[in-house]
Parts: sequence; C-alpha cells; structure tokens
Amino acid sequence: MSTRNVIIIGSGPAGLTAALYTARANLQPLLIEGLEAGGQLMMTTLVENWPGRKDGVMGPDLMMEMREQALKFGAEIVQNYVTSVDLCTTPFVVKTADHEYTAKTVIIATGASARLLGLPSERTLMGHGVSTCATCDGFFFRGHEIAVVGGGDSAMEEAMYLTRFASKVTLVHRRETLRASKIMQDKARANPKIVWRLNTELDEIIDHGKGEVTAMKLRDAKTGVVEEVPVSGVFVAIGHTPNTSLFKGQLELDANGYIITHDGSKTRVPGVFACGDVQDHIYRQAITAAGSGCMAALDAEHYLDGIPEHLQS
Ligand code: NAP
Repeated sequence: MSTRNVIIIGSGPAGLTAALYTARANLQPLLIEGLEAGGQLMMTTLVENWPGRKDGVMGPDLMMEMREQALKFGAEIVQNYVTSVDLCTTPFVVKTADHEYTAKTVIIATGASARLLGLPSERTLMGHGVSTCATCDGFFFRGHEIAVVGGGDSAMEEAMYLTRFASKVTLVHRRETLRASKIMQDKARANPKIVWRLNTELDEIIDHGKGEVTAMKLRDAKTGVVEEVPVSGVFVAIGHTPNTSLFKGQLELDANGYIITHDGSKTRVPGVFACGDVQDHIYRQAITAAGSGCMAALDAEHYLDGIPEHLQS
C-alpha cells in the first residue's frame, strides 16, 4: 500500500473532526479507531452543550453521526488499534496487529481516560448518575444531593462547579490531607454547600438493580465503619491519564504525560500533530476537542502543501 497523506489515530471528536476536514481537503485520510471507538462520549448519555443541538444529543449518537459524516466525505476508517509507531523516520510508520502503514503526516487524537475507582457499580451506572465530567452532567442534578470523589484540584473544581446546581455536595477523599493547591482548597472550604468526608473511601454505589444512583456506601478509613449515604449522583474526579504510551521517547510529553504542542497542533516532530484531550488537560470538552481536530487537519494540510518533493509519491 502506498504511503498515506494522513493517518489519524483515535476516533473521539478530535480524531473524527480531523478525518472530516482532511477528507474534504481530498487527502484520503485513514483513521484507526482504537480500542474504545468513539472515545469518552460513548460513556455519556445526553449531551446538552453541543452547539446547534438545542434539544441535546445522546453521546453515542453524536459520535456515530460524526463517523458517518467523515465516511461520507471519503475518510477510510479501520476498526483496529495501533500497537506501535515510528515517528523518527519519514514516512512515518504506524503498525496495528496485522498491518503496517506509512504516512506523510500523523494526527494523534488518542485522548485521555478518566481514572476510575474500579468499582463494578461505577461502570454499570456510568451515565446513569455516575459521571467523570461536572461540566457535562452537572446540570442534570439541579436541587439534588450528590458526591464528588477525589482530593486534587480537579475534585475541588468539580465540587465548586457542582454547587451551582446541587443542594449539597459531599466531597469524599481517602486521606486526611488534600492534594489540591491551597488556593483551591481554601475556595472549596469556604463554600457552604460542600460537606467534607475525609479519611473516607467510597466502597459501593447503589442502586445497580434500579439502574440509577440512590446512595453510596462510605467506609471510614480509620474505624472501618460503613455508612450508607443517600445521593443521586457521584462524580469521580481522581484524575485523567493521557493515552500516550505509544509515543513515549518519540514526542515531547509534559510531567503528566500529555503531548506538548505549539503553534496550534504541532508537536516537536514536523508532520506529527496532536489534538484533543491527549494534549489538553485543561478544557477537556467535546467541542474543544473537535475544534483542535480541525486545527490539526489544517496544520497537516499546510504541512503537506510544503512537503519536500521526495516524499510526495
Ligand atoms: P491529581 O492531582 O492526581 O489528584 C487525584 C486525586 O484523586 C488525589 O487526591 C488522589 O488521592 C485521588 N485518587 C487517585 N486515585 C484514587 C483512588 N483509586 N481512590 C480514591 N482516590 C484516588 O489529579 P487532578 O486533580 O485531576 O489534577 C491533575 C493536574 O491538573 C494537577 O496538576 C492539578 O493541579 C491540575 N489541575 C489544575 C486545576 C486548576 O488549577 N484549576 C484544575 C484541575 C486540575 P491521594 O491524594 O490520596 O493520592
């Protein structure tokens, strides 16, 4: 198979938007979907903040529509996952378990995964009262009592944000000491709607049988005493892990493993671009990921316009 113009790795809003734009630019992109096709929106239910969809759209439906739109304009999408890349040679090499592809440009859109506690109920109730994104789902908990798990800046930020909607936010943290910066702690502590449960672990989320959250089981880490506390939502805010293990040693990563980009979506390797949550630990929204996917597509297009002659075959 001849060298591709563009290979896109990842199929969340960033990857699929990059596929749409590069397909419409007639670059015949190849998108390799990855293990969790569609990305984090596949774990959500109603998305109410996607501009233009005033009645909201279900996360999986939105991703399906984006996929169909990219296909309509000629993107090729393969259901496989990348096992290794070589970004030190040109053309770049991208391998799956059974194929080896070469490309003049690579757009990385492998996203980040919200860390989870590992409780079975957390998975089954995800999108049904359990969430990893306050901005996405806070609105659904107007007037409700909910919980946030975690002791870092994300947990403080999410708890404070959620007090706009919830009548009470119980912050559950496994240790006595918070990891969050002092300024964030101070702000959160000054918020009268936040109730603190330190030295406390979340043992279980109830009610798996009903398919909705009605309570949580909290265990005092010192005494071992377990207590059932009624809540209608649980926000897990224990950090994110960027999906960058494929690129370690080849691209510049920050201390938390996110790909460092400059001048839009450029990485330190010319011809390799990154977009979406894999390079953004701040905004993490579907719409910002899609916007950066568009930027990566345009950056790749501009790069290809100026590519040296010997790589154009
Ligand atoms: P983080 O700093 O790694 O904090 C994760 C928190 O979750 C920790 O308190 C940790 O507990 C807890 N945790 C981890 N695994 C757990 C488990 N299995 N069970 C229970 N608790 C668990 O992550 P983050 O809060 O997402 O922040 C990531 C980075 O982004 C940080 O550098 C942060 O400063 C930055 N950030 C900044 C802002 C802001 O400035 N506005 C907002 C958000 C994030 P332990 O403390 O016991 O380990």
